[in-house]
Formats: sequence, C-alpha cells, structure tokens
Amino acid sequence: MLIVMDQKAAPEDINGVIAAIEAKGYTARPIPGGDRVAIGILNNQGPVDAALFLALPGVKDAIPVTRPYKLVSREFKPEDTVIQIGDACIGSGGLTIIAGPCAIESESQALTIAEHVKRSGAQLFRGGAFKPRTSPYSFQGLGLEGLKILARVRETTGLPVVTEVMDLETFDLVEHYADVIQIGTRNMQNFSLLRRAGRAKKPVLLKRGMAATIDEWLMAAEYILEGGNSAVILCERGVRTFVHHSRNTLDLSAIPVVRKESHLPIIVDPSHAAGRRDQVIPLSRAAVAVEAHGLMVEVHHDPARALSDGGQSLYPDQFELLCRQVRSIYRILKNRKDDIPQD
Ligand code: PEP
Ligand code: MN
Repeated sequence: MLIVMDQKAAPEDINGVIAAIEAKGYTARPIPGGDRVAIGILNNQGPVDAALFLALPGVKDAIPVTRPYKLVSREFKPEDTVIQIGDACIGSGGLTIIAGPCAIESESQALTIAEHVKRSGAQLFRGGAFKPRTSPYSFQGLGLEGLKILARVRETTGLPVVTEVMDLETFDLVEHYADVIQIGTRNMQNFSLLRRAGRAKKPVLLKRGMAATIDEWLMAAEYILEGGNSAVILCERGVRTFVHHSRNTLDLSAIPVVRKESHLPIIVDPSHAAGRRDQVIPLSRAAVAVEAHGLMVEVHHDPARALSDGGQSLYPDQFELLCRQVRSIYRILKNRKDDIPQD
C-alpha cells in the first residue's frame, strides 16, 4: 500500500504515519520525487487495512499496490527515474548510447575502440574485465588489469565506463573502478549479488535473465531498490527460444510493458540478442522505435581477432551508421510524440 500525503501535510503528520506503519510491524519507506510526499508500506504479509491510515492527519489517500514488486512500480512512483552518469541522463526522454567491446583485451584495443565510439556519439564505454563464459577454456577477461584499463579509458576519453560484476568476492573492486556496475543475464537471480548491489554507491545495469519473465526481472530490481540503491537501469538482451537464426530472441514487447509497469529506465542490448553482426543495426532501429531509453552495443575495430563475441561486434563504421540511423528515428518520434496514441 502507498500512503499519499496531502501537499500541505506537516512534518509531524508524516512522522505520525511512519510511526503508525511501524507500530503494525511493517516497514515505512518514504518515496522521494514529485510534488507530494508518499510513504510506501513494505514487509506486510497479506493485505493492509487502509482505514488504519486514512483517518490520520495529513493523509490524502491510501492506494493498494496490486503488483508483487513495489519500489520499482509506477504505482509507488509515477514519475520516470532519471539517472545522470557523466553527460548522459538515462531515462530522461533522451537516447543514451553505450558501446565498446565485449571484453577488455588490452589497453590499445580498449582505447582504439573507445575513440571510435566516442566520435560516433556514444556517451558511455562498455567492456568486460570479468567475463562469464560458457566454457572454462574460453578467455575469462583480464580481471583487475582490465579494470585499470577501463579507468585509463575514462581518463583519456572522459567516457564513464560500464563493466560487469560476477561475484561477491570482486564486488568492491568492480564498484571502485566502474561508473555503472553491470549484472549479467546469468546472475539476474543471484540474490546475494543483488543485495550487495543494493548497498552499492554506483548505478546498476541489470540485464534480463535469459529465461526470466518480466515479473521475475522486476522482482530482481526490487532487491536492489529495497537494499537502498534506486539507480537501476534495466537492459533487455533477448531471451532463449527455439530459433536458430539468432543467438536469442529480442523481446521488444518488454519495452512498452516495462515502461508502463516501472519508472526505471530501460535500454536494449541488440548484440547479445542477435549474436550476429548483420542483425544488430535493424534491431537497434526497432528498439528505439519502441521507445527504449538507450542501447548497449558491442563494437570492435578488429572483430575477427576479438577474444570474445567477435561475430556480433560491429565495425566502427557500422556503429557510426547505427548512431546516425537511430538518432534520426529518435528525432522523428520525439517531434511527433503528440501524434502517437500512447495507449
Ligand atoms: C555482456 O554484456 O558482456 C554479457 C555477457 O551480456 P549478457 O549477460 O547479456 O550475456
Ligand atoms: Mn559479449
């Protein structure tokens, strides 16, 4: 349940509601944002009796929350969450582009790619230092050395960096070096990692599990918000289906659903969805058309020699084309927003 306070409610009224919530053994969570104060009720087993709160001074309304997730839902927070990272405002209605190689392989590889993607308009750089690989014999990432290279990329280019955390042991290290901490598809329901991410001081990019429903994905994000970190960016990266023409199936229908259900920003990773370079540009155009807040794309200057995911990495000139195309689609949508039926 969400208790909505009157705009004129005094601080004592708000404290009174919090005390009444806690007296019932529930947790009170004031929700920031907007021009009204709202207080969420968490940790209730079963329904909450609205009458208990409606009679208290300063209370305007008590709205039952019908979803299993609360803090991530629009019922709790109607306004979009906007996360500022460097020059990018993710979720503002702008289009954020994150690009870089699958894995950091060397300083010169990372810097070469970073210069290319920056020139084309990427606002953030991506690259894995700790890589979750299907085979233990595949390249596992450079680890700490990769994180140090990412720091040098940030220093040299000014681009904030996104990199994946795989486990609790390396969380502090990744948090120290990253501007955005990525939790990958294989870890979407690693609950101890999600709880640690809830205590992180950096934004978290939470990828959808490859077999996760939207409810499961939003519940995973709920763990992070519940832990105290409200800077979560969702990333649709394709789900496992029966098809053979692509690595995964990009579920673009998730974008309007998540945007309706949640205030969190949502971006699309067409590279891991497709697994093939030739599908990345068309899928990116489509993702922007369904109003994703951004894209995360794998780019490599020499994909034939890439140590991971070369087959789905765009050449720099293809990435430049992608940026131009998606930006013009974005501009058309933005200018014609009033003409497009929203429901
Ligand atoms: C990645 O972005 O490097 C990655 C491994 O992606 P996913 O978790 O979506 O497979
Ligand atoms: Mn990859």
